[in-house]
Amino acid sequence: MKRVTGNERTCPLCGNVFITYDEEWAYKKGNTYYCSWHCLRTIPEKQRGRKSLKKDRIFKLFREGKTQAEVAEILGCKDSAIRYWADRYREEEG
Ligand SMILES: [Zn+2]
Repeated sequence: MKRVTGNERTCPLCGNVFITYDEEWAYKKGNTYYCSWHCLRTIPEKQRGRKSLKKDRIFKLFREGKTQAEVAEILGCKDSAIRYWADRYREEEG
């Protein structure tokens, strides 16, 4: 059985979590991957080179006891985007 492995990524523009299987065909700009062509071509000029979701910042909020919904509200992003980091936080920090 052939095992297909993909890399789970979070779109820095819309916060969608997606999987890239073939990096040659991924929507990317430099080292940043986007979930869709739509997101790739609508990167605002001022947001280039800036990560909208910072792991350190999100983890810090979780450590302060904030819930997933609260973190999403503070950072102004989707709850689904924070769910990805909540999973990472549980994996890394128990
Ligand atoms: Zn996107």
